[in-house]
Amino acid sequence: MTILIDGKKIASQIKENIKKELESLTSKPSFAIILVGNNSASEIYVRNKIREAQNIGIIANLFRFSEDVTQSEITNKIKELNKDDNTHGIIIQMPLPKQIDTKEIINIINPSKDVDGFNPINVGKLNIGIEKDTLLPCTPKGCIYLLKTIEENLSGKNALVIGRSNIVGRPLANLLVHENCTVTMAHSHTKNLKDLCLNSDIIISAVGSPNLVTADMIKKDAILIDVAINQKGMTESGKHILCGDMDYNSILGAGIAKAISPVPGGVGPMTIAMLLSNVLTAYNNNSK
Ligand code: NAP
Repeated sequence: MTILIDGKKIASQIKENIKKELESLTSKPSFAIILVGNNSASEIYVRNKIREAQNIGIIANLFRFSEDVTQSEITNKIKELNKDDNTHGIIIQMPLPKQIDTKEIINIINPSKDVDGFNPINVGKLNIGIEKDTLLPCTPKGCIYLLKTIEENLSGKNALVIGRSNIVGRPLANLLVHENCTVTMAHSHTKNLKDLCLNSDIIISAVGSPNLVTADMIKKDAILIDVAINQKGMTESGKHILCGDMDYNSILGAGIAKAISPVPGGVGPMTIAMLLSNVLTAYNNNSK
């Protein structure tokens, strides 16, 4: 029987642990969220981050800017937050409007407050030497956590990462190398995805293409993590129906895989839990 990896439950345990750790602190960790425009998906993500933070006693301060914001308005706010001792973390909700140079914005966040782990200093640390207090990107960190709930020692496993974005695929591949996996990265130019999948003990898909990975592509006892969030219609009450990249029902039905994370309820809740864990790390780093 294929194990269902319950990201929601695992994330709840992580948040409970963070909440307990907060009890021994003399002040509350706090992070700033910069939100530009009225993108409905961004509004939902930000609302969830604020709610989850408040639930465990972390302060989340929202700074809103209109769609026509200038580069200097955002950079000035980040510089102000960089200097503010009461702000331990800073995140920029993506995407930013096209007049904004996103790379420059990420570059000026103080690396010790970069709780999304996107600043080049933190990306570099991920590449050349993770330390206990390194701020790692939240979704990849959450994926590794989920994998380890199934198999603590990932050493020597053949791991396939599908997707090579800077926020998911690339950092994830690096983290898997740190775990001593033999890592393959697939992307839109990859020609033999089925063969690569059939050779993999671990498959993590972060593409955004429903049914990209099907039951006939799975090696016996493989562990499958589905990062993607795709919309496949609406319920009668107007809610989006979500799915990942993996043909979840047929894979579960085939029973070949050792474990699979569902969408929703897999990686998504872990991303927020890892963000809150990073805010606590940033608080501790900045209080030293
Ligand atoms: P992205 O920047 O659009 O990257 C998608 C990647 O998929 C690219 O590297 C692309 O290759 C690759 N790709 C496209 N078609 C492919 C194919 N047929 N076979 C193999 N690879 C293919 O996306 P992202 O930001 O990484 O996000 C990926 C998915 O994860 C999305 O569904 C997103 O919503 C979801 N996501 C979820 C969370 C969460 O918390 N659960 C967090 C972040 C993202 P090229 O590089 O060659 O173009």
